[in-house]
Amino acid sequence: MPEPFDRHQLQPLLDRIAAAAPRHFGEGEVADYIPALAEVAPDQFGIAVCDINGKVWRAGAADTAFSIQSISKVLNLVIAMQRLDEPDIWTRVGREPSGHAFNSMAQLEEEKGVPRNPFINAGAVLVCELLVSRIMSIHWMMREQARRLAGNPAINFDDRVARSEMDHKARNAALAYLMKAYGNLHSEVNDVLDVYFHGCALAMSCSDVARAFAFLANGGVNPQDGQAVVTPQQTRQLNALLLTCGLYDAAGDFAWRVGLPGKSGVGGGIVAIVPGQMSICVWSPRLDSYGNSVAGLRALESLVEGLGVAPLG
Ligand code: GLN
Repeated sequence: MPEPFDRHQLQPLLDRIAAAAPRHFGEGEVADYIPALAEVAPDQFGIAVCDINGKVWRAGAADTAFSIQSISKVLNLVIAMQRLDEPDIWTRVGREPSGHAFNSMAQLEEEKGVPRNPFINAGAVLVCELLVSRIMSIHWMMREQARRLAGNPAINFDDRVARSEMDHKARNAALAYLMKAYGNLHSEVNDVLDVYFHGCALAMSCSDVARAFAFLANGGVNPQDGQAVVTPQQTRQLNALLLTCGLYDAAGDFAWRVGLPGKSGVGGGIVAIVPGQMSICVWSPRLDSYGNSVAGLRALESLVEGLGVAPLG
């Protein structure tokens, strides 16, 4: 098998990308609809790459913890796919790109309380209801999963962020109540949101996130400990969902510019997968109008170009 990418080239490339990132400082805004996130210093940048042997390369603030926000939606879906039968999930939430903002109400009303996919807020809240209604210790399990996948026992929830989200829950609560009104959500809305907000409030660094997602580049097996997280088929399915739905109504543009399965969060993180090769995490808090990191997107474009990785051909 040919060397998939030149390992010697990777560290200098990451260093160059980190050095170029400040050019985009000042572009975009931090997410201020969650007050605790508005306090994060906006002009920061980190990048980490984890290969399928678990080796990590890093540059910039790769070890600074940030709020992973919607990146947690993938980790929650993984728990659901591990524990639930397929129809229990996919009769309640779809698998199509939404073409709408991540927190939009309009489509959910039109489609009678069935969210388009598990990565928009409504779909992710729905997944949290599936989990909270079946798993007693779901908070504990979410944190343990993040720690185990990243190989970092120090990972924790940022309780201030979780509280801040609960204090400003109106839109997510509205989505949950709409699903309840249509009979697609049964648990207490606050119990469901508490799980959802805690997932969003997991504090992880680029190195943590890159390691935690390496199983998606490695046929479902976590290279940290050799454990199968999901099956090879589920790995393909998750990567397909990430490619089509991971960046919301900018998923098409992300596929065009970067060409990888990916997931963004309003904390400024983006994780991307090069199947069979590596997982990548970039972080920079300023966001574009879609809620995706401006400097992070630029960095991913440069990395893909610099390494010549192109799983789509
Ligand atoms: N916690 C955020 C919210 O519910 C997550 C959104 C995101 O990261 N896109 O709005």
